[in-house]
Amino acid sequence: MDKLELLGLFPQELGDALADMKLPAYRVKQLFSWLHRGARFEEMTNISKPLRETLAQNYADQPVSLLEQRVSKLDGTRKLLYALRDGNCVEGVLMHYHHGYTLCLSTQVGCRMGCAFCASTLNGCVRSLSAAEMLGQVHCANRLIADDHISNIVLMGSGEPLDNYDNVTRFLRLVSHPDGLNIGLRHISLSTCGLVPQMKRFAREGLPVTLSLSLHAPNDIIRRQLMPVANAFAMEDVLDACRYYIEQTGRRVIFEYALVDQLNSRPEHAAELAQRLRGMQCHVNVIPLNSVEEKALRGADEAAIERFMQELERRHISVTRRREMGDDIDGACGQLRRHYLADQAEQQE
Ligand code: SAH
Repeated sequence: MDKLELLGLFPQELGDALADMKLPAYRVKQLFSWLHRGARFEEMTNISKPLRETLAQNYADQPVSLLEQRVSKLDGTRKLLYALRDGNCVEGVLMHYHHGYTLCLSTQVGCRMGCAFCASTLNGCVRSLSAAEMLGQVHCANRLIADDHISNIVLMGSGEPLDNYDNVTRFLRLVSHPDGLNIGLRHISLSTCGLVPQMKRFAREGLPVTLSLSLHAPNDIIRRQLMPVANAFAMEDVLDACRYYIEQTGRRVIFEYALVDQLNSRPEHAAELAQRLRGMQCHVNVIPLNSVEEKALRGADEAAIERFMQELERRHISVTRRREMGDDIDGACGQLRRHYLADQAEQQE
């Protein structure tokens, strides 16, 4: 059987898992704190060598290691490819803003939501990540910036976080744990394509992170062309779930909107969107579409992006444009992993 990942356990669970070893409570606390600083068993210097060896024989410590990184010459953004213990890989992005480092995390290997513009979903979902594997990505990235640490996290890598609900909520509790990485929930964003029942449940979870909702359309007809999930949930129900989230958490919602040439980016689309969002405590984040070679969609041009944003502003909807970082390093979601897997396949031929 596979080794239990100690990193994914709460302190109490860690104590229970190791009950047979009869460790004193302070040892369990030390172990939790080491694990959550990203240490491997052999690095836990105030724990005796025999104990470290016993732990290493029976349990897993850090479940994620770095496979490849690409550093942008334009802005220093790093695109990371991580290896998981079962041979799968996922990717992430490490960005440096003036307020510190932000890490974009993956929550699944692949994704089963099928959005028309997204590279992560091209081969469906292989499996969901454990909480330990999400924490492991943070530790892996922290090792790259030894003099600093990650202060913000966005769950915007591959996968649909709310399609991996239990592991994602466990991760959020562990990553914000005072004896762990202690990253404030206010410094974390969760992005979803809009799974309505899970959004409502999440609103009541007591985890007030920033909710980003991938909207990408002003109405259901256009949304269904881009996102299969729109066939399952009507946009009005998604917006209602957002209103509920705002009510329960007191936090505003961010709407993600990728501008596709003609399809959703004309001024009348902006007008319709403004109408739908009227009175909501929200913000629109316009994203220039990252083109994916396997997909036929083209991004809107600069003039269209400008016009779209002006149209929203004129209607008093707060809007910004997502900064394009690491444009020179396979920026679009899921592309680094795709290219890596394609290279591997080629080498094997
Ligand atoms: N599954 C979640 C989170 C992962 S995607 C979600 O759907 O929100 C993170 C964001 O990147 C989403 O807003 C997604 O719609 C967007 N995205 C995916 N592919 C993109 C592309 N090629 N260009 C621009 N944005 C993209």
